[in-house]
Amino acid sequence: MEENINTENQAKRSLNFIEQEIEKDLKENKNSSRVQTRFPPEPNGYLHIGHAKAFCLDFGVAEQYNGICNLRFDDTNPVKEDTEYVESIMEDIKWLGYHWENVYYASDYFEQLWDFAVRLIKEGKAYVDEQTSEQIAEQKGTPTRPGVESPYRNRPVEENLDLFYKMNSGEIEEGAMVLRAKIDMANPNMHFRDPIIYRIIKHPHHRTGTKWKAYPMYDFAHGQSDYFEGVTHSLCTLEFTVHRPLYDYFIDELKEGKDLEDNRPRQIEFNRLNLTYTVMSKRKLLALVKEGLVAGWDDPRMPTLCGLRRRGYTPESIKKFISMIGYTKFEALNDISMLEAACREDLNKISTRVSAVINPVKLVITNYPEGQTEELEAIDNPEDENSKTHTIEFSRNLWIEREDFMEDAPKKYFRMTPGQEVRLKNAYIVKCTGCKKDEQGNVVEVYCTYDPMTRSGMPDSARKVKGTLHWVSCEHSVPAEVRLYDRLFSVENPGEEKDKDFRELLNPDSLVVLKNCYVEKYLKEFKPLDHLQFQRIGYFTLDKDSTEDKLIFNRTVSLKDTWSKINK
Ligand code: ATP
Ligand code: MG
Repeated sequence: MEENINTENQAKRSLNFIEQEIEKDLKENKNSSRVQTRFPPEPNGYLHIGHAKAFCLDFGVAEQYNGICNLRFDDTNPVKEDTEYVESIMEDIKWLGYHWENVYYASDYFEQLWDFAVRLIKEGKAYVDEQTSEQIAEQKGTPTRPGVESPYRNRPVEENLDLFYKMNSGEIEEGAMVLRAKIDMANPNMHFRDPIIYRIIKHPHHRTGTKWKAYPMYDFAHGQSDYFEGVTHSLCTLEFTVHRPLYDYFIDELKEGKDLEDNRPRQIEFNRLNLTYTVMSKRKLLALVKEGLVAGWDDPRMPTLCGLRRRGYTPESIKKFISMIGYTKFEALNDISMLEAACREDLNKISTRVSAVINPVKLVITNYPEGQTEELEAIDNPEDENSKTHTIEFSRNLWIEREDFMEDAPKKYFRMTPGQEVRLKNAYIVKCTGCKKDEQGNVVEVYCTYDPMTRSGMPDSARKVKGTLHWVSCEHSVPAEVRLYDRLFSVENPGEEKDKDFRELLNPDSLVVLKNCYVEKYLKEFKPLDHLQFQRIGYFTLDKDSTEDKLIFNRTVSLKDTWSKINK
């Protein structure tokens, strides 16, 4: 049943340019009409929502064309990589509901890549350069000015081989030598100007330990790994467009002219996901974590998948957002309100409605008998026709929101103010009679009387009043901490501000902790990541820091969009 719905949805949506290319390749029977993709993260950080855009496509098209998608860790730089990241990456992909066929590592191919490099040296197509990286950079030239050839470019093959082995044995210092492909120092594509293909790194590798000291560069590992695995469509972001000719060059070299059209990976580039009010660069996200500016990779303000999960986002809302923005050839800045709207739409369907008072003041119903308790029924989710109900207790002393009472209220204030009637949600209509204040003039208690005939099912229950307030019973509620999260940065595009460091642009109000809140007792039955709507306040989830004695809630998103004007 569900499968049919998916196909119908897909049929309605027009194909994106990548799907069109894949269908063309299939029609031409390229790669024997196979579709194989891969998601190739470097295990040097946690995945963010931008990575989700990439892997939704990798896994999505494989599913769509009955192909396979593998997970491949691009682990060619041991300095920054760790198994902690490998595990989190797997968890996040599974959270979004995708399954890889195999798990591979670029380090699985170190031997094959080494042999390939040795072959290039023997064929006079690679050489060891002893210049510093600065010297090499200086000789690169510009797109319109040819580069200068390295003095080591024409070293004899034997000497190159000998030095290449030494680069890997530990005899040569880091940075003292690199292996470069000998291609064309005048090529208009700068990536062809004798690119560095191996460098020395002495830091142990998280999988291969100290076996290797010479490591392949991205351009010498990525395309080759695709080829070894039989990838047909290598989907990546636009910044790799300029690398594509080199990608193809190494694959041609690797195939040595054999069956050129069979088993040939093809790189196709699409636009990155960039979100407003956040940063997406791993380097910057790592800095926020390391410098303690956020509470870790899964801080609910982070654009990481584990952060969004902890904040209460659903996988469906993330996938919906990604399909809304689509895949194109043009870079864009995507509005975070769209992600929030997708999240609200999903949470509205699935969240359990509960009562919580986050900034409490006591309300005493002076004509309600002391010690009496009534059990009222509240519906868990009015959007679900099979919804359960749960019980909430009503009594003489309640907590209501401080902002729902005003002693001298303006005309259009439809909440609690002396002389005015309001409905208490799921319960009675009450009339405010006044309040008590402390010496500083702060309201400490609000008073009202209730009308017993206005409970639902009673004769006057349909009486019209303008405001409905949420509440919890003092005696029957439990204390809680509520964390109100907001956008991490106060400017739209913090990564692009020229004169300011991104740290200076953090939103000082991105987290407000309310320690003195009360929630209905029913909330003790929930677990972290369950989706809740605190009525009239917003969507929340239980945080993993919660304990039996101390419930902690994260605000996922407010009920309405208060930032952008679109929904006002
Ligand atoms: P790094 O700076 O460490 O290279 P990265 O974000 O590119 O960071 P990778 O682990 O190399 O990280 O990314 C894995 C894949 O995710 C790549 O194919 C990359 O193109 C894709 N990707 C990364 N960021 C985004 C983004 N913002 N939008 C779409 N795809 C992305
Ligand atoms: Mg990368």
